[in-house]
Amino acid sequence: MRHLKASLPTKQFEYDYDYVPPLAMIKTVPGLGFTLGWALSVLLVALRLLINLIAVEINKDLKTLDNQLSQIVQAIENGNYLNAAELFLSVVAEIIEADQRAKALEQQALAVLEAVVKENLGEARQDLITLFETLSELLTSGLPAEAATSLDDYKNLFKTLPLPAIADTFQSDSVFAHMRVAGPNPLVITKLTGSLAKFPVSNAQFQSVMGIEDDLGTAISQGRVYIADYAILDWVVDGSYLTYQKHLWAPIAMFAVPQGTAAGRHLQVVAIQVQQQPGADNPIFVRPRPDTQSVEWEKAKTVVQIADGNFHEAISHLGQTHLVVEPFVIATLNQLDGHAVSRLLMPHFEGTLFINNAAQAKLIAPGGTVDAIFGGTIDSSRVAAVKGAQAILFDFGASSVPELLARRGVDDQQQLPYYPYRDIAVALWDAILAWTTDYLAVQYATEDGPANDKMLQNWVAELISHEGGRVKNVGEMTGGHEIIATRSHLAKILAIIIFTASAQHSAVNFPQASIMAFAPAMPLAGYAPVPSEGPWLATLPPLDQAVTQLNIGTLLGSVHYTTLGRYGDGYFTDPQVKNALTKFQTALGAVEDNMKKNGLDKIYPYLLPSLIPQSINI
Ligand code: MN
Repeated sequence: MRHLKASLPTKQFEYDYDYVPPLAMIKTVPGLGFTLGWALSVLLVALRLLINLIAVEINKDLKTLDNQLSQIVQAIENGNYLNAAELFLSVVAEIIEADQRAKALEQQALAVLEAVVKENLGEARQDLITLFETLSELLTSGLPAEAATSLDDYKNLFKTLPLPAIADTFQSDSVFAHMRVAGPNPLVITKLTGSLAKFPVSNAQFQSVMGIEDDLGTAISQGRVYIADYAILDWVVDGSYLTYQKHLWAPIAMFAVPQGTAAGRHLQVVAIQVQQQPGADNPIFVRPRPDTQSVEWEKAKTVVQIADGNFHEAISHLGQTHLVVEPFVIATLNQLDGHAVSRLLMPHFEGTLFINNAAQAKLIAPGGTVDAIFGGTIDSSRVAAVKGAQAILFDFGASSVPELLARRGVDDQQQLPYYPYRDIAVALWDAILAWTTDYLAVQYATEDGPANDKMLQNWVAELISHEGGRVKNVGEMTGGHEIIATRSHLAKILAIIIFTASAQHSAVNFPQASIMAFAPAMPLAGYAPVPSEGPWLATLPPLDQAVTQLNIGTLLGSVHYTTLGRYGDGYFTDPQVKNALTKFQTALGAVEDNMKKNGLDKIYPYLLPSLIPQSINI
């Protein structure tokens, strides 16, 4: 360690290990941290949310007001900022007319526009942040703090915003199973390779769902049984917020692929156990016949959705995309200034430091949104995010998507034929790896070229240092040192970074708007014990909590800023690199066409290449 420490060149950008301890984050975000185009896109979504909320509160149709926002988007896209600014001010004026509490917005919106017109971005930054703070206060005040009396109460929270389609389908068992392979968090199911003592589903229970011609032992031996095990949430402490006692469980659910060889055999849900330890007080709930209603089954599925939602946000989304990419941004800024690898990576880092810093300062701070609506205490949620991040960061070089899928035993298309996330993710991985491989073939004349690249080795040294990125398994052990010795290894590392910053983040980020914003489909906490007497609705979030989930899910899941593979005209000038880039864009286009041909652009739009941003910026 002393050797590495001594050899580390000075760092321009300092690390902080206390924002989300002990992860490496940047101490101070350099520069503006975001572009104006990005800030305007976020602002527009926030205004849409405000208009929706005011419409809910005053029970008035404000759809025309909402429509004007799309004109602003149009004006921004055409580069007509002055026109956008005028429209923006008129929308704000109408909002204030509808709700006087929004009065403060007027002055602040003017201040932002003035700074923008003067091109004083430093001033615009502070004004924008003040404006966002006002918006977020408005979005959390005056919420209807009451329990829902029917599902319609949740649907009525979408007054000017379109109601997500999931609102009408989420209660079906097939949609529940579908979420394991094409939902917000398609990263949990694992192949069962033997019986599981802590989840003793009997053959009779299995057959009551899958039919008597199938049996559990055979299904397991044929690799057709899958488990969603949320054991990682078992230690989480149930949180409370205002007067609410929240609940979060660590359930286990069993799924199976039907017998046969037909293509398109979909995963089916078999049984659910609410807690980890089996026993009389922790029964196994078996899927009832399709034509029967069961409140207990409805609650058991909700328990899984709640666990999946918390796993999704803390681990899969914040932990394993946002916080994993951060140390790579810092080390790249510090060590690769002017280097070809930095040229390739920087577009995939745009906005990441700013959004992560905002997340740690606001979103996951005590009293913030995560504290309000997640099932666990804020300390628990933050620790879950750290554990999630470290699961990738501590074995980075083995964290490519094909390896992650293989470790969960879900990489076999014969055994598990229908898994949209897997199939598209692997196609995108192949395209990204080919791109980084081609790119490096231009930069280094020989396969071992990287071994003699001092800047690159400083980058690795900073990434793996305790005083740096605290990442493990980035390089290859060579002569007692961890270095990147070959082009192919560097290509893999860069592909993992780019895939995580683009496709993987997209897969987990955008379902926040289309699925998770409708709280009953994926509540972030339970509000009554399970199992218990009482109606299913009592387990779901009260309406004020549902509005908070609606707002944050829609905000974070609606900003598509930049597009994967689009680096901008003239960004790369070398003809060989440009050829390689054209090949990459063609490969992405082929994935896009294929998805459209199979209808996957509608079923699973989150990995549609044209909707994947270059970087984590929201
Ligand atoms: Mn995100």
